[in-house]
Amino acid sequence: MPLPRITHKRRFVQGLLIAVALLLPFASLSGNPFLRMDIAKMTLFLAGIPLRIDQFYLVLLVILLFVALFLLMTALLGRVWCGWLCPQTVFNDLVELLSGKTGAHTRHTVTRQVEHPVSLIIATLISFNLFCWFMPPQQAAADLLDFPNHQIMCITFLLLTLFGYLNLILVKRSFCRSYCPYGRFQTALMDAGTLNLSFLEETRDRCLRCSACVRTCPMAIDIREGFQIECIGCGRCIDACRGVMEKKPAGTGLIDYRFGTIQGARFRLGNTTIVLLLMTLLLAGGLVWGVVGRNQNAFAVQRIATAEPRLLPDGSQAKAWRAIIGNRSEADQVYSIRVVGEAAGDVELLGQIRDIRIGANQHREVGFMIHVTNKSRPPEKIVLQLMHGDRPAGSASVSP
Ligand code: SF4
Ligand code: SF4
Repeated sequence: MPLPRITHKRRFVQGLLIAVALLLPFASLSGNPFLRMDIAKMTLFLAGIPLRIDQFYLVLLVILLFVALFLLMTALLGRVWCGWLCPQTVFNDLVELLSGKTGAHTRHTVTRQVEHPVSLIIATLISFNLFCWFMPPQQAAADLLDFPNHQIMCITFLLLTLFGYLNLILVKRSFCRSYCPYGRFQTALMDAGTLNLSFLEETRDRCLRCSACVRTCPMAIDIREGFQIECIGCGRCIDACRGVMEKKPAGTGLIDYRFGTIQGARFRLGNTTIVLLLMTLLLAGGLVWGVVGRNQNAFAVQRIATAEPRLLPDGSQAKAWRAIIGNRSEADQVYSIRVVGEAAGDVELLGQIRDIRIGANQHREVGFMIHVTNKSRPPEKIVLQLMHGDRPAGSASVSP
């Protein structure tokens, strides 16, 4: 009786991953990109929510959350990341699939010839996709077709494509075997309940020693010798063994995935996994709290040291300042600046301090002058308040 195969599931997951990676840069929510680090706007869009780089703590939380999720997945699923999800594996698998490479060590001339154009096309797509995570895809395409005006970008694209092509043609899985530190790192996160792929000790004596599992292994290892750091958990050996054993009476595969290492043990969360799970939940909660409760406006004031003070008709001076105002909301806003506190009666602001219009998710610099009217008792500190309509939207203290 035919036994179920892992390869179909792995290919489905990898296909889904490629589709998400290719299509997500085109997705938008509430008029914003769904997920993009927009370099030109210095804004990270997360689920359509813009997080400007000046809200660094939120951007940092996002990065930490992704790291925690990655560690949690490692503690739960072991090296499934390597064999199923890592881009190095996914694209190598895709090249093999499209080149008609059936075994791990196929060296047919036709396959090798097809491998080159397939690798080049995939490398080109990967390079273009990389740009799309940092700028709108339409703009990326237009800029890349306009070499005279975007030479650095076009050269970067060509170098990335060449790098990707050489990686797929020459480096392949030797990167996983010899250079990638993740395998060693992953063993440090192994938990009592981590998913493992192993040759099942309880059925060892039924092994036919046909070596089908060894021949199919892309990492050229023999899983019957026990856990090896080179194993990427791809599951090809499971399918190979099932292919052999299903022809035998009451045949079952001798290799399988298993949570933990003890036969028949029920799935349980180990200490490392629990700690990582709590850390992930904490970071996710902190991120939601930070995004929901964040200030919708940014306000900073700086002295323009290079500008000469302006001499006024009464002989007094007004000094030049600049206000940097950020509108983090989803709609255009109008702001004004005023003086509050003890110095309110002794200081006047000159220049554009009213009707400051700023578009959604935009920043703007506004120049103005501070004139101290009370020369007999100049204030030591002036508190400037950003107003949004009749509501305070931020404040900054300056020394005149
Ligand atoms: S031993 Fe099996 S799971 Fe590990 S890399 Fe080889 S084929 Fe993949
Ligand atoms: S494929 Fe299965 S039966 Fe054949 S050598 Fe590997 S473990 Fe043994």
